Amino acid sequence: MTTLALDTPPITSGSRAAPPAERWTNRFADLGAAFFTELNPASLPSPSWGAISPTCAADLGWDADWLRDEATQALQVLSGNALWPGMRPLASVYSGHQFGQWAGQLGDGRALLLGELSTPHGGQEIQLKGAGLTPYSRMGDGRAVLRSTIREFLCSEAMHALGIPTTRALCFTASPQSVRRETMETAAVVTRVAPSFIRFGHFEHFSHHGHAAQLEGLLGFVIQHFYPECADAPQPALALLEAVSRRTARLLAQWQAVGFCHGVMNTDNMSILGLTIDYGPFGFLDAFDPQHICNHSDHQGRYAFARQPSVAFWNLHALAQALMPVAGGDVDALRTALEPYKTEFADAMTQALRDKLGLATARPDDSALADDLLRLLATDRVDYTIAMRALAGFSTASDADNSAVRDHFIDRLGFDAWAARYRLRLQSEGSVDGERAARMNRVNPKFVLRTHLAETAIRQAQAGDFGEVERLLKVLLRPFDEQPEAAPYAALPPDWARQLEVSCSS
Ligand code: AMP
Ligand code: MG
Repeated sequence: MTTLALDTPPITSGSRAAPPAERWTNRFADLGAAFFTELNPASLPSPSWGAISPTCAADLGWDADWLRDEATQALQVLSGNALWPGMRPLASVYSGHQFGQWAGQLGDGRALLLGELSTPHGGQEIQLKGAGLTPYSRMGDGRAVLRSTIREFLCSEAMHALGIPTTRALCFTASPQSVRRETMETAAVVTRVAPSFIRFGHFEHFSHHGHAAQLEGLLGFVIQHFYPECADAPQPALALLEAVSRRTARLLAQWQAVGFCHGVMNTDNMSILGLTIDYGPFGFLDAFDPQHICNHSDHQGRYAFARQPSVAFWNLHALAQALMPVAGGDVDALRTALEPYKTEFADAMTQALRDKLGLATARPDDSALADDLLRLLATDRVDYTIAMRALAGFSTASDADNSAVRDHFIDRLGFDAWAARYRLRLQSEGSVDGERAARMNRVNPKFVLRTHLAETAIRQAQAGDFGEVERLLKVLLRPFDEQPEAAPYAALPPDWARQLEVSCSS
């Protein structure tokens, strides 16, 4: 492990040196020794760049050229082979419920927080995933394979571009180092970025062990830095629980609206900031199927697409339970603080569907109209992204056959009946076709990270060519733009995609 020399002047983006030490603030370390173990990342042999997200780099005040400049040592730092001055690497401890069962102590088993960088958007923690063994690695090897690293990298940035709260991914690096999973694979390291990686499981950990001072400290930390509006509440813990419930509800509505299936909604994979976190066996719906299970290891379908909103609510109950000792022990008050989840989710979901249908005003029947379309999509297993995008071309003219949408359905008469209601609803608010289409195209993405798109990029990367990762990233960073040259990325999945399975193995 080398720490870079400090004899270079402080830098701004574009200059040829490490970021100045004073840009690293590392507030998480203030929580105290009970929260983490300080250790250096394990070195990664012969690292090379996989890809860099230009938008994430820009948000940190960097750019890809600067990172690629050898003088910055970014390749070594972001692979775990060096540290920039001011970094203070640590692995944090947490616990959690996995698949509905208390799982006991977990923690950053292969992630390492390098430090927190001050940016114009506030403090951003920089975390390596796949950086080697930690005291919390349990049976794992501390590594992440190239395949899952590429999926996390692409999806983090794709979700951000979709406007969905998420941890970000600055870049990933790859190494020839072998990693054993079902077969031998190679190691990679993704650099994740978020204001905080604190999970529901952090609260559960200290609560379960009866560590009242730490639980109090964590509560104060999260409120002070991320929910200052809760500080003056009579019971800050209750105010926080309600605020987290609301944020989580809005996040879940966004997932459902875009057809995102997380795959492993354990409480240790739930962000206290309401961010999408820990991309594993996730998937975007191709054919619309509420029962879709994207995680091959989820035999019971606990985390099936349609169950996600209620699973999030279950997870919030686990958080409420954990907050009991710092919330005055009032079970009813905790329950009351969770309650807004239901209306917040329902309202956000209804509004998201209204936006997807291009409805500019709110009417009581809007949910029924949207649900009936979803039912038709589900019965005919219509491709969700393609159908919703095509709906922007819907014409309210009385002689329009709307075949560009209609032809996606097997039950054409069912669609016609729905279309007649939709037309009347649009006409009743004086909707103008072209203007509505433009609005709808800003909420119904043309491009999402379908499993087969990631798979194609992964196979080429495994053969040493990262070009497809770069091309795919570029498309996904503009999900709402037509990008006619990228039409194949918006097409139905090919037949070979049906065999693809994603599991917890990563
Ligand atoms: P996940 O469900 O993938 O978020 O992981 C659950 C827990 O297992 C977390 O505490 C991870 O840090 C840990 N973990 C997963 N894979 C590995 C690995 N290869 N080595 C060490 N820890 C791991
Ligand atoms: Mg996890």
